[in-house]
Amino acid sequence: MYNTTAALRTAFLEFFKSKEHQIVQSSSLVPGNDPTLLFTNAGMVPFKDVFLGAEQRPYTRATSSQRCVRAGGKHNDLENVGYTARHHTFFEMLGNFSFGDYFKQDAIKYAWEFLTKVLELPEEKLLVTVYETDDEAFDIWNKEIGVPAEKIIRIGDKSADKKYESDNFWSMGDTGPCGPCSEIFYDHGEHIWGGPPGSPEEDGDRFIEIWNIVFMQFNRSANGDMAPLPKPSVDTGMGIERIAAILQGVHSNYEIDIFQNLIKSTADLLKVEDLENKSLRVIADHIRSCSFLIVDGVMPSNEGRGYVLRRIIRRAVRHGHKLGAQGIFFNKLVATLVAQMGEAYPELAQKQAVVEKMLRIEEEQFAKTLERGLALLESSLADMQGDVIPGELVFSLYDTYGFPADLTADIAREKGLSIDEAGFEAQMLEQRKKSQAASSFKADYNDQITSQQQSEFRGYDATEFDGKVTELFAD
Ligand code: ATP
Ligand code: MG
Ligand code: MG
Ligand code: MG
Repeated sequence: MYNTTAALRTAFLEFFKSKEHQIVQSSSLVPGNDPTLLFTNAGMVPFKDVFLGAEQRPYTRATSSQRCVRAGGKHNDLENVGYTARHHTFFEMLGNFSFGDYFKQDAIKYAWEFLTKVLELPEEKLLVTVYETDDEAFDIWNKEIGVPAEKIIRIGDKSADKKYESDNFWSMGDTGPCGPCSEIFYDHGEHIWGGPPGSPEEDGDRFIEIWNIVFMQFNRSANGDMAPLPKPSVDTGMGIERIAAILQGVHSNYEIDIFQNLIKSTADLLKVEDLENKSLRVIADHIRSCSFLIVDGVMPSNEGRGYVLRRIIRRAVRHGHKLGAQGIFFNKLVATLVAQMGEAYPELAQKQAVVEKMLRIEEEQFAKTLERGLALLESSLADMQGDVIPGELVFSLYDTYGFPADLTADIAREKGLSIDEAGFEAQMLEQRKKSQAASSFKADYNDQITSQQQSEFRGYDATEFDGKVTELFAD
């Protein structure tokens, strides 16, 4: 019945409206209330202050379909795109929220009712997790909902010994609201590799996490202290693309309606026949995040949010090049995206021309050095021993040819290689020291360098990601 993503979005919001939730429009990808956060990475972000008790709203229940980007900071899925069936850099998170109103029992009941009664998902394909010590949630699932005990898995915090890859204690970032959670997984079937959460094969795509129900109970401060929230609350998040895939009878998110046309347009443009080509999927993913970031006011630059955007654009351009793109292609996909999502997001349609122009300028700029950088990489690899690309080479690709380190890492991974991250960072620090020494007595000159650096893809701050080089690789 809900065989389009648009119908699913409406069904979700209407369901929670019928449970007295206020429908709230998606906020910007740039969090207005939180300088500590790079992007809106979950549906609860716009409500952070409400959970903390610092902001009052005229309602205690809300529901939304929030646009999210996970391409940096605590939640970073950039490296997963193209490798898993379920991750995007940009996605929409459906959510329902209780601000000190209902708690565990109703949150679980609503989720189950929506999945099994409204969407009519077969119960036997679902399994759930709870935080390892959360007997209350376990009992609700088991005794009130009737999920058999063997299908309720207790999971702790992400553990160093890799016993748990998943994590049933959710937090938005290093600080802020957090609490134990309970997640719902869907079994796509034996023919797909992967195991249930908590098992060694959990990272596979057989059991896909669809919905996370967070019992918000604490506010974590920078020193790690956890203070109880004024009132226990609920925050849930379900990736619309993942649930759409189930309803549309496909396994990968990239096969759902909203991706089909994007992939088709990309394939037509680049004359690629195999629609399952990994690079097509990466490009289709990246056009969404890049366009929406620009719509929300992010501009490509050499630091912070702008540098994340620039890195995603360059990755897309590199994948296009790999598919044999002749000339500029990336911005030509904006029209298809607008046709696909412009109705749900009128701001996208309104800013189409700006998005196209900005992407064109970025692509043209990078195209000048991409080819030469790749040639250098190829020739260096031919002489290389071992399977780790040295930090010096990663650095010179970055410094001279504008290759963000993660882009080089992406190429390396395709070849079964990795990059020397520590070596790269050491070079970065070295350059930074030199640059700081120079700037102390050559301020004017340095200003000029900064603008010149941008056009030549030079400059240490290009990988300085909100002040921390290591964040580039952080999950
Ligand atoms: P996963 O373990 O699959 O990476 P997660 O545990 O990181 O997911 P949550 O932080 O719990 O995800 O977010 C809530 C929901 O948002 C998930 O259950 C999933 O449906 C969806 N989601 C999370 N990350 C992505 C992504 N990168 N692309 C698409 N959907 C996502
Ligand atoms: Mg994740
Ligand atoms: Mg997870
Ligand atoms: Mg989760």
